[in-house]
Amino acid sequence: MEHTLESYNELVERLLALSVAYYDNDAPLVSDFEYDRMNNELKKMEAEHPEWIRPDSPTQHVGGHVSDAFAPVVHEVPLESLADVFSFEEVAGFVARMDEAVQAPHDYVTEPKIDGLSVAVEYRGGVFYRGATRGNGEVGEDVTENLRTIRSLPKKLINAPERVIVRGEVYMSHEAFNTINAQREIEGEQPLANPRNAAAGSLRQQDPAVCAQRMLDVVFFNIQLAEGASYSNHFETLEAMAAMGLPVVPHTLCRTAEECVDTIERIGEGREGYAYDIDGAVVKLNDLSQRETLGSTAKYPRWAVAYKYPPEKKPSKVVDILVQVGRTGVLTPKAVIEPIRLAGTTVTNATLHNQDFIENLNVNIGDTVLVQKAGEIIPEVLEVVKKDSVDFFRLPSVCPACGAPVERDIDGAAIRCTGAECPSPPRRPWISTDSALPQ
Ligand code: NAD
Repeated sequence: MEHTLESYNELVERLLALSVAYYDNDAPLVSDFEYDRMNNELKKMEAEHPEWIRPDSPTQHVGGHVSDAFAPVVHEVPLESLADVFSFEEVAGFVARMDEAVQAPHDYVTEPKIDGLSVAVEYRGGVFYRGATRGNGEVGEDVTENLRTIRSLPKKLINAPERVIVRGEVYMSHEAFNTINAQREIEGEQPLANPRNAAAGSLRQQDPAVCAQRMLDVVFFNIQLAEGASYSNHFETLEAMAAMGLPVVPHTLCRTAEECVDTIERIGEGREGYAYDIDGAVVKLNDLSQRETLGSTAKYPRWAVAYKYPPEKKPSKVVDILVQVGRTGVLTPKAVIEPIRLAGTTVTNATLHNQDFIENLNVNIGDTVLVQKAGEIIPEVLEVVKKDSVDFFRLPSVCPACGAPVERDIDGAAIRCTGAECPSPPRRPWISTDSALPQ
């Protein structure tokens, strides 16, 4: 497709709007995979037409703004982003670049990339002092009181430097996510979409008591600043953090591109074993003085690269479509599928979002669909690969819970029950529309 300045500007605007939804509202409008695809398209356009590059382009700065709801914290050491790569060739390309730039002997550390929310946490005299979100990378939001509710965050360190700032990722474990969602289902509340946004939304709550109920955790991967201590390489800093009592990201020392790629593969194969979601693996140059020489671009360091795993997809047959009536009366459909193993878990159903989504896919009971689990816990139906039914599924015209007529929102895709008494019971079961319609 021919790129024009107009299409470039449109893409920048679209990505900026998606970033606001993701970083500021913790409610993404598209999957990360889709966002990354569009972002790559933008990078391609900017490589072809450097004269088009706008200073507000998402490629030129770290995503996210600082909300007025929190006190600002200026990061003494910026919280940068990471350059993405999507193939092992690109990982090898990164190592080759490092080999060329760094003549002295060098090695790498490879770590899982945790899909949570980045924070900088400061300890003074070994005592937890303050913590902030990444924000725009230069200034973050003070979330000290919310961080205090995280049990895995040590409030005191062992033999810590006089003043130390560590960077880590706050996440919601799979266990906490499943427990909270089971409870929300019983109470008829909308389930949390995925652990990443659940963690971000929870840490940015105004009331620390609400954050405390979300059972968040934290894991650290960098020393940003240490007064009264000095380190020569990254591996050493990770070991030092662990000795201080901080939970630290698993880390493997690698010497060659091959060793980096092997470690990335091993991390990917074992991803179900981690308590957190991972959305990639990070390869970092180990030596801190070599890193300093290489420096950073406006957005990310030159000495590290994040490999993003491709989302796993598999076909399965739709055996039923169930509808749930949420607390606000919205009818939500999901496909019950023949069980498949996806990214290490058994998947038996997939979200269908709403009537428009079903219509676009042209999906109905009996069809074989392609299901994807791309970082998100709730798998999604991507497309119909074998059409064995006639037409697409239609949400019922009366509420499957109370029998009142349903009506579509004027300004949205939601279909809602109009019954004054509905939803009545707090528990909202999934209902098969064939069998469970009120008589
Ligand atoms: P990033 O998430 O790709 O990488 C940087 C982050 O990785 C850092 O902030 C850091 O906190 C984290 N990280 C986790 N483990 C780490 C480790 N071991 N070492 C170093 N860092 C580690 O970059 P980004 O700029 O924060 O955001 C881009 C990501 O956000 C993309 O994956 C994109 O898909 C997603 N995004 C999605 C949408 C959407 O609409 N779905 C919108 C904007 C951004």
